[in-house]
Amino acid sequence: MNGLLLGRIQGIPIRVNWSVAVIAALLASSLASTVFPSVIEGRSDGAYWVTAIVTTVAFLASIAAHEYGHALVALRHSVRVESITLWIFGGVAQLGDQPTSPLAALRIAAAGPVVSAAIGVSSVLASAGLSGLPGAATLWLGTMNLLLMGFNLLPAFPLDGGRIYQAWLWRRDGDEVAATVRAARLGRGIGAGLVGLGVVQVAFGGFIGGIWSMAIGWFIREAARIEHIGSITAQPLHEILVSDLMSPDPITVDADLPVETFVKDLLRHGRHSGYPVMRDQEIVGLITLADVPRSTPGTTVGDLAIPIAQIPVIAPDATVSELVRVAANRAVTRTLVMDDGQLVGIVASSDLSRLLGVLELQAAHRH
Ligand SMILES: [Zn+2]
Repeated sequence: MNGLLLGRIQGIPIRVNWSVAVIAALLASSLASTVFPSVIEGRSDGAYWVTAIVTTVAFLASIAAHEYGHALVALRHSVRVESITLWIFGGVAQLGDQPTSPLAALRIAAAGPVVSAAIGVSSVLASAGLSGLPGAATLWLGTMNLLLMGFNLLPAFPLDGGRIYQAWLWRRDGDEVAATVRAARLGRGIGAGLVGLGVVQVAFGGFIGGIWSMAIGWFIREAARIEHIGSITAQPLHEILVSDLMSPDPITVDADLPVETFVKDLLRHGRHSGYPVMRDQEIVGLITLADVPRSTPGTTVGDLAIPIAQIPVIAPDATVSELVRVAANRAVTRTLVMDDGQLVGIVASSDLSRLLGVLELQAAHRH
């Protein structure tokens, strides 16, 4: 993750992502125009703005302190720390290696929430002795740090709570990979739950809150998926299941949809470059971005789709070595994952080549 280098503490570069500027501006303006005027009335605009800017900077510093907590404990356990980056969802301490014991993993994961709790509790206590804007600002800062702690303690890998859960499973069962796979699965589930919650919020009028829940849920889901793929590569191909590698619940496209509408929809939520095509509740083919230039006015998605007979299909409980056999040397670069005639996922050849690439690297390191 790249970003502007702010400086180094004990050799650890601290960076900020551009997204932080956007969040900081939104936060400062909502504090100055809404939050502080509603609790402390009758101050000048200048006083609200100065307080808001100081509070925003202090909040960003407390996120950095949370990450720095992880980094310090990691260093104590001889785990290299490459950098700390602040970005839109908080911060990330990028570790250079994996902790070598469950206890080290647990301490590193818990250090951030401990720092947030300390800042939160001491700020809330300090605010009791302050009045006016400084009191309101300190109370807000304390509350936000306690919320930050609570959010990070969600057992949704790769959030801190999920890492603590992973370390606990690892210690209990002695199997690091299995612990990561289980924690990552729970993380994906919680991520999906948050996306669902966001949809409900939006439906009931909580637009901004809903979009936030959806974005955070999506982020957790994707991050858990990447960690998951990273951890399963420690296993040989015949032990990895297709269900671990696939993108679950792919977005499908109706065969009768005009290609123009399909392209327009893609601009809004198209994250992939291949989509299964449905007609009468059945999968009839697959459309990829590469097919779209062949369209003429009036063409439907069904006209351009690659027919189902030409697409490799596999079951979710098949192994990745079987997937390699099924998908190898096929012109179509995506394999549909079907369970009892139901589409449950899709595997792109890029998923497979990423996995194979990591396995090759691992093999190279072992020799
Ligand atoms: Zn953390």
